[in-house]
Amino acid sequence: MTVRSRSATDWGYFDHNATTPMSDAVRAVWSEMEAQHWHNPSSLYRQAGAARGILESYREELADHFEIENSERLIFTSGATEANNAVIRHFARETTGRVLVSSIEHPSVAAAVGSYVGRERTHHLGTDPITGAVDRAEVEKMLSRGAVSAVSVMAVNNETGAMQPWREIADLCLAAGIPFHTDAAQWIGKLPSSNLGHVGYVTGSAHKFGGGKGMGFLILPEEEPVGMLHSLLGGPQEGGRRAGTENLPGIVAMVTAFAERSEERISAVSAVQSSLRDAFEVRLAEVLGVRILARAGRRLWNTSLFAMPHTKNVKWLARLSQRGFALSTGSACSAGRGNPSAVMMAMGLDFEEMGRVLRVSAGPDTTAEEWTALGDAFEELEKEFRA
Ligand code: PMP
Repeated sequence: MTVRSRSATDWGYFDHNATTPMSDAVRAVWSEMEAQHWHNPSSLYRQAGAARGILESYREELADHFEIENSERLIFTSGATEANNAVIRHFARETTGRVLVSSIEHPSVAAAVGSYVGRERTHHLGTDPITGAVDRAEVEKMLSRGAVSAVSVMAVNNETGAMQPWREIADLCLAAGIPFHTDAAQWIGKLPSSNLGHVGYVTGSAHKFGGGKGMGFLILPEEEPVGMLHSLLGGPQEGGRRAGTENLPGIVAMVTAFAERSEERISAVSAVQSSLRDAFEVRLAEVLGVRILARAGRRLWNTSLFAMPHTKNVKWLARLSQRGFALSTGSACSAGRGNPSAVMMAMGLDFEEMGRVLRVSAGPDTTAEEWTALGDAFEELEKEFRA
């Protein structure tokens, strides 16, 4: 099912982990909300009451999907970055022991851990360089030793696409009475998520599933194990948990986009795209001798991260871009900067190899023709670079 009429800017776009466009229907709903219900939901006149009613009905709809009975457990934020920071700061303030965190977290978790929790209290979990997955057994061992006060492990890594054993880790934490958080920005809207309301603190990001940039949410656990989470900034909205006027058009767009990613659609897309991705990888690996990262593990259907055998990634990007392809050198958040990626270090790459890494991330409507054209472009450019 295609929900977006393709524009010229869609062709060759292979950077959906960075952001993905809105469907026509979501854009229409957003614009309709801006036209009709632009009032502040916290004000006290009729139009504001209507806006509040719409806001709460969309909160209920999203909460229902995650099997959350009390929709107050779902708070709207400006995105996953904000939600991640709020949770990590909460863990840092309300607990005193060690915080376990994977070594492959997105910078919005990793940097928050660095500034709120600090080195002394942080334990970084190891990653298997073959599968790209965090070691669940290490969490088990650390929990059995005691002194762990909170755990944060992402659901899917944005660079490798490696799925993490976060559900198993959530269960371990639940049994031990330890607060657990997962950054599910790359999971939600791409993989089944109906029981996300039962795992602890969960963050989601709208623009990763076509819901527009600057919107996200945080699911709170059924019983907040370390007290109430307070907003990062001052302000009474969202029950004092998140400050700032609610972005009603954004919220409605986000929930509408999420509904478009039904479980049936996700599973159909996942089957089609993963086989196109796999065929592309066979070409890269067999014809060009490219090293595909985390290939042996469970991966998201859309992502391929690989190191080219020669020539800098920025050179590949530039030449591919001239041919109409949009790719990334890894996470868009660290692209263009000289910092070595923590994910790539965890995958065992040295600094020189990191400079040859490229990431392809497809969307639900990426066509077989685009995948083939991308493979052709790699083969042609490889000959050109080698010459
Ligand atoms: N976590 C992960 C895993 C991500 O991929 C991203 C987006 N790159 C974020 C968090 C940040 O999301 P947002 O843009 O909504 O702040």
